[in-house]
Amino acid sequence: MPQIQEFSTTRTDIAGISVYELASQFGTPTFVYDASVIQQRVSDLAQFDVVRYAQKACSNIAIVDLVRQSGVVVDAVSAGEIHRALLAGYKGGPGEDGTPQIVYTADIFDQMALDLIAEHDIHVNCGSPDMIAQLAERVSGAHITLRLNPGFGHGHSQKTNTGGEQSKHGIWFEQLAECKALADNAGLTISGLHMHIGSGTDLEHLAQVCGSMKQAALEVGPSISVVSAGGGLPVPYNSSQSYMDLDRYYELWDEVRKSLESEFEHSISLEIEPGRYLSAESGFLLTEIRAVKEMGSNRFYLVDAGFNNLARPIMYGSYHPISISPRNGDSREDQAVIVGGPLCESGDIFTQEEGGFVASRQLPKAEVGELLVIECAGAYGSVMGSNYNSKPLASEVLIKQGEAHLIRARQSLDDITRGEIIPS
Ligand SMILES: *Cc1c(COP(=O)(O)O)cnc(C)c1O
Repeated sequence: MPQIQEFSTTRTDIAGISVYELASQFGTPTFVYDASVIQQRVSDLAQFDVVRYAQKACSNIAIVDLVRQSGVVVDAVSAGEIHRALLAGYKGGPGEDGTPQIVYTADIFDQMALDLIAEHDIHVNCGSPDMIAQLAERVSGAHITLRLNPGFGHGHSQKTNTGGEQSKHGIWFEQLAECKALADNAGLTISGLHMHIGSGTDLEHLAQVCGSMKQAALEVGPSISVVSAGGGLPVPYNSSQSYMDLDRYYELWDEVRKSLESEFEHSISLEIEPGRYLSAESGFLLTEIRAVKEMGSNRFYLVDAGFNNLARPIMYGSYHPISISPRNGDSREDQAVIVGGPLCESGDIFTQEEGGFVASRQLPKAEVGELLVIECAGAYGSVMGSNYNSKPLASEVLIKQGEAHLIRARQSLDDITRGEIIPS
């Protein structure tokens, strides 16, 4: 299990490069990623046969390329993500070891996705029974995976719970026999089963999946050669949270695998599909404080990033560690502050709790022009960025072996209006 880091409220550098140097080179707001953190997280999961990156957590093609070079395969939830995987060097079809490099996991196909899947021989993980016949119309004899909803789920927020009757995700576990018949009729082979019950869950809930998976695999029979544990591995966003016991988690899945192997008399490949776990801690949102103001008894730091850049606080009430970078490196007294952004929307607050309640944070005293860093922002950060309030998407920078590389240019004003047309 990785060591839990202490979150400090002052920060001078990211991966050895001064935050002021990064800000002057790339401007603010900018997402900065530390490649070594992603590589470390990949190696934490080495026990699993296959690590498949759920790129929706952070899908910049430079990040997807980095995980590819670390020996990780990839999941895609849309045509756009298949396109990104191809740009980052993944190929359709099975890799040398027979494992598909790209898997499309979704609850529907759209036309664009079906076209790419047929053209590039992309393996499909079906999250709805309707997808089986729709796929068979386009490709013949394919192997498929079924994403099952085991009847329960769990996530860090109700919005990230992807199992149970309230969830739209996956095929209801009681429809397995029906889906097997659909696949047989369509000439498709069910070679894999997959369950993903939520994001930011815990060992107790993830362990329940093992029993459901074993039962489902036995029901499908020996055509199964892959079981995927899905993602959901938590990362600590504050010092009271912790990592999951990965050795224990692996042992539980390895037991499922071994019992299926002895039942089916062939080997079973064990996949894990993390998104957050690989990228969350690598990412930092670098911002500049543009106003410090008092509203009655509250003090606000207003920075140049908003929920157009990082939506997790407004979406889920998520907590992110925040640090201040005093310009001359001196030590400052802490004070209670509320951190907000520039958007014309009162919910544009980074220090809010679930339900939208504004909270304050003890942070060092700071002035306009100093930098504020929102940490653990590498998962579900830049990917949820929007042009709301006609704000450009932030730039993104990857630090690799002590060097900072621009991996996404900040949008220009013309980028924001591209494609819009005033009728003549
Ligand atoms: C989002 C998602 C994941 C990754 O979830 P994390 O909590 O980020 O690990 C894995 N698999 C599927 C199908 C997903 O939709």
